[in-house]
Amino acid sequence: MVKLENMKNISLSDSVINLDHGDPTAYEEYWRKISDRCTVTIRGCDLMSYFSDVNNMCWFLEPELAEAIKELHAAVGNAATEDRYIVVGTGSTQLCQAAVHALSSLAGTQPVSVVAAAPYYSTYVEETTYVRSGMYKWEGDAWGFDKKGPYIELVTSPNNPDGTIRETVVNRPDDDEAKVIHDFAYYWPHYTPITRRQDHDIMLFTFSKITGHAGSRIGWALVKDKEVAKKMVEYIIVNSIGVSKESQIRAAKILKVLKETCKSETENFFEYGHVMMKNRWEKLRGMVKESNVFTLPKYPEAYCTFFGKTLGSYPAFAWLGTKEETDLVNDLRRHKVMSRAGERCGSDKKHVRVSMLCREDVFNVFLERLANMKFIKSTGL
Ligand code: PMP
Repeated sequence: MVKLENMKNISLSDSVINLDHGDPTAYEEYWRKISDRCTVTIRGCDLMSYFSDVNNMCWFLEPELAEAIKELHAAVGNAATEDRYIVVGTGSTQLCQAAVHALSSLAGTQPVSVVAAAPYYSTYVEETTYVRSGMYKWEGDAWGFDKKGPYIELVTSPNNPDGTIRETVVNRPDDDEAKVIHDFAYYWPHYTPITRRQDHDIMLFTFSKITGHAGSRIGWALVKDKEVAKKMVEYIIVNSIGVSKESQIRAAKILKVLKETCKSETENFFEYGHVMMKNRWEKLRGMVKESNVFTLPKYPEAYCTFFGKTLGSYPAFAWLGTKEETDLVNDLRRHKVMSRAGERCGSDKKHVRVSMLCREDVFNVFLERLANMKFIKSTGL
């Protein structure tokens, strides 16, 4: 009888592996071990109303989730939650659009320019162009942006796709029309050292990339300004009349367990994630070094206040480059690896974004295929 493990390998050896999306299946094993402690039972009569808390401006936010979010940020020390409105969204994808809408609708003149420093998260382009809003306009790379008038800069830190720590690049400190949305999807200890408690006007977080529960579609925004928060809530009401309560209750439960175990010696999820990511990055760096063909960014070490020691960064995506004049996304495609083209991120053909959050067997196949590419290139075949 063929063992299941072998069958998996056989099928993987032929199939195209998709590392284009950042589907965070890498963490399934951890949650499997946690088992029933995250199980939520929902009866037929539960959670039926549209409303979660009529006294909250964000009336579709489940109080349990709000509590779990505040407690987790306090335990990790990565963001301030005091004196802020929490807006829950169907993923931070919806919240980013809600925030762009809110800031634009409050601006004196429109359309408001929207920019992000390249290489940027390619979904921002679709989010700001798809509905052809007259209120805002995607203006591309923030590095060369010099247009007058109101603008919104999207700052992703650590950055997707290249893992760098980012700050604003347009910088017009005295300009009331300058607005910033900070996307902190990856500002968690398994990806990067926590160096400060972030304290910006609009900060976006996603459940997807903390624990890997992308399918729940839960994100949250921490918003200082009441009018901005109100407009974001309005957007979500028009868009989806709130956010699934089932998802919020499940997210609350998992975030609570995450917080309870985050100082544990044996069950600390962040420690688990950190070790796994470090291991994958070391393997990938080893391969890249040997190849003499590929490149990867280098990240400085920093003192992590969560782990209490100096650590490196192990981003959720590898920003893989090549020293050769080639179209890397197509080269990888020929080797049955799908990745995101650098051009979609405002960069060039010589770079691609590769997800580091796939299942272990897929990651190993990726390394094998990369090794084969290196061989083909160095022998000139
Ligand atoms: N921001 C960034 C930088 C991301 O990488 C992602 C997920 N790829 C998101 C936002 C969206 O996350 P969500 O699943 O919560 O919509």
